[in-house]
Amino acid sequence: MDIFIAALIGLQMGSFLNLLVWRLPLMMECEWAQEHAQYSGSPLPEQAAFNLFFPRSHCPACKTTLRVRDLIPILSYLFLKGKCAHCGTSISVRYPLVEIVVALAWAGCAYKWGLTWQALALALCVSVLIALALIDLDTMYLPDSITLPLIWSGLIASSLGWTSVSLVDAMWGAVAGYLSLWLVYQIFLRVTGKEGMGAGDFKLLAALGAWLGWMALPGIVFFASLVGVLMAIILRITQKIKADAPFPFGPYLVLAGLISVYGVSITDYLGLIF
Ligand SMILES: [Zn+2]
Repeated sequence: MDIFIAALIGLQMGSFLNLLVWRLPLMMECEWAQEHAQYSGSPLPEQAAFNLFFPRSHCPACKTTLRVRDLIPILSYLFLKGKCAHCGTSISVRYPLVEIVVALAWAGCAYKWGLTWQALALALCVSVLIALALIDLDTMYLPDSITLPLIWSGLIASSLGWTSVSLVDAMWGAVAGYLSLWLVYQIFLRVTGKEGMGAGDFKLLAALGAWLGWMALPGIVFFASLVGVLMAIILRITQKIKADAPFPFGPYLVLAGLISVYGVSITDYLGLIF
């Protein structure tokens, strides 16, 4: 029963994350355009009033505001047969998929930790990680407005005993997570003259370190790099991406982080691969 309730909350959370993933990058661009206008003295761009709650959810194609019954996770998608009720534009299958994945993630937390603060904290952490992975896939951004709160909320959760990581391990996790990728970045930059990743990746790994402790980091970096490089090779061979196209690392860090949240260690990683 607990698991079922957690899954229902997860479904609703997944539905909210779809909205966040779509709107947050637009809000950031809006903000940059306004700042740019301020400094350059050009007129403020239109569409200034845009945030998470306004305008109400609408079809991106025909702008029709969605009815409450179009906003039920998964069911609405099935009833509408994956199309906008108004204009018939097809809705990406990603929306219900994200809802299902987040529901499973919440159910997993309830299964592992019962109805506890630890389950709630980790379910929220996992939800935010999934949103970050999707935003990075879509836009190549890992917004500070998400990564930074994820770092300090990990430290707070640890101090309250809501994670199984001691505050000292969590603190060193945040430091080591940031510094290790920063170092890789600096070396890569000196050797190749190219930016191998963005500062968002350092902050994301710092957040994973804060939530999972420094001990989890070697396994996470190893697994993320391995899967990331494999994916890059596969996508290049199948010509889905060009040779020098930017390639987001965040989704692989998140994937490795999620596996770690549910209690898989470095040796288990090796077992997963070999
Ligand atoms: Zn429409």
